Amino acid sequence: MSNFDIIIIGSGAGGGTLALKLAPSGKRILILERGGYLPREKENWDATEVFVKNRYVSKDTWYDQHNHPFQPGSHYFVGGATKMYGAALFRLRQEDFKAHRTADGMTPDWPVQYEEFEPYYTQAERLYNVHGQLGDDPTDPPASAPYPFPPVSHEPRIQELTDGLKRAGYRPAFAPTGILLNEGNPPNSQCIRCDTCDGFPCLVHAKADAEVIAVRPALAYPNVTLLTNARVQRLETSATGRTVTRVLVDHAGQLEKYTADVVVVACGAANSAKLLLQSANDKHPRGLANGSDQVGRNYMFHNAIALVALSRRENHTVFQKTLSVNDFYFGAPDYEFPMGNIQMIGKSKGPMFQGDAPKFAPGFTLDQMARHAVDFWLTGEDLPLPQNRVTLNSQGDIQLHYEFTNLEPINRLRQKLQGMLEHLDLHPHLIPNSLYLGKHIPVAGVGHQSGTCRFGADPNTSVLDVHCKAHELDNLYVVDTSFFPSIGAVNPSLTAIANALRVGDHLLERLH
Ligand SMILES: Cc1cc2nc3c(=O)[nH]c(=O)nc-3n(C[C@H](O)[C@H](O)[C@H](O)COP(=O)(O)OP(=O)(O)OC[C@H]3O[C@@H](n4cnc5c(N)ncnc54)[C@H](O)[C@@H]3O)c2cc1C
Ligand code: SF4
Repeated sequence: MSNFDIIIIGSGAGGGTLALKLAPSGKRILILERGGYLPREKENWDATEVFVKNRYVSKDTWYDQHNHPFQPGSHYFVGGATKMYGAALFRLRQEDFKAHRTADGMTPDWPVQYEEFEPYYTQAERLYNVHGQLGDDPTDPPASAPYPFPPVSHEPRIQELTDGLKRAGYRPAFAPTGILLNEGNPPNSQCIRCDTCDGFPCLVHAKADAEVIAVRPALAYPNVTLLTNARVQRLETSATGRTVTRVLVDHAGQLEKYTADVVVVACGAANSAKLLLQSANDKHPRGLANGSDQVGRNYMFHNAIALVALSRRENHTVFQKTLSVNDFYFGAPDYEFPMGNIQMIGKSKGPMFQGDAPKFAPGFTLDQMARHAVDFWLTGEDLPLPQNRVTLNSQGDIQLHYEFTNLEPINRLRQKLQGMLEHLDLHPHLIPNSLYLGKHIPVAGVGHQSGTCRFGADPNTSVLDVHCKAHELDNLYVVDTSFFPSIGAVNPSLTAIANALRVGDHLLERLH
């Protein structure tokens, strides 16, 4: 049995970033990652392999509340889900941290407000090479520094959309994006600005994902060790139940045991809840840190829709995810509740329309449809409800109980987008693209999963304290999207990254 100062379980946005933050301390750090390195192969950029054959989706089976099995869109690799992400790295809006009214009820106040997160957002943007521009988006929260890199430029068709939107009185903005692109010096740019980014792994390691940005640099420190194919099965505690004393790992088929002064769980919202629940013992009969019965509850994953508008002219855009519209984020004169964010997604390709195209665009072939497609992604806030939760079934598999909430705003947002089309030289219909993020089965689109171990001041209503330490244990932390008390309506990763940096500062002080 080997002993470390810190064990971090999971190497994605939360765990990977924390490992890099702690690496210079010289503390002995062990990262346990259930997956391996995502293979670098031509299939990384093949739409059929990635979107139709789900080449990089885990073989996990989860169950819904009716006990129906489904394959979640989970990605178990060094770097976690960020290997596949679109790298749209938004800050939550300042107002998202405060309790606010939505169509279906109030959201909770965060125990730590935006002002305390702000310096960590700035660090996170630097670390993850975020390209953006302050000032265009009327909902941008105050920032202490400009983006470290200029915005990723719009290609001509997206510039036309931007100009059309501005003429019609909207306030389109550049989407903040984490890619290693140097538009001023293309021969030396790591990113080649290709058309297979959002939802694909990056073959040339130019996406600011947690493997490239955090885990590999952390491993340059001699005090950091990574075990791949190391799935943590259980956390054991001392007789008092206050301390995690052993981490039990299935390492490529062998049971191994590790110890550390501090144990950090960062397995992604559903799997972190699973690990705590399956670590139940006589001091924690409902699962570790679950005296309040909050572990697994308040699961959120956004109300999201991928929509295609057909352009009258062909859309030759290569890298499309450069535009964001937040005019309706907080509501509109004709609707008082927050509606959410509109952004572009990666340019769709023919194979992604299998199943949808003939129905919605008769006469169009799949490739024709892709050539004319302009692709939007709408995100609305879903609410943290106690009954929306992760539990374990009798086999110990994840069972996800989820009822949709707050759907009216996203439907309104869709109508708003519909209303924009006439200004943008687009056909007047929006077509769903259900393959993006595996949305044929709605609950399988787990990309934005969060909640399940929310942080808070009150141990009766939260799992973690304000430092993301479990209220009921002295050395157990959870540092991934599980800690979110509410989800807002922008993509979650930058907040998970900023929080990992924030918790990192606390841990450095603790371990000093
Ligand atoms: C297709 C796609 C597009 C996305 N686009 C965006 C975007 O543009 N912007 C954005 O902000 N977000 C995006 N997201 C979401 C983003 O990737 C996640 O919010 C983020 O990665 C969550 O970070 P995390 O640390 O909570 O979990 P993850 O990054 O998923 O990391 C969890 C890690 O834990 C490992 N693990 C799980 N269980 C165990 C165990 N028992 N033992 C050991 N290891 C374990 C997993 O293998 C994984 O590596 C996207 C997601 C997907 C799937
Ligand atoms: S656009 Fe750049 S970062 Fe994205 S996949 Fe292509 S090369 Fe990689």
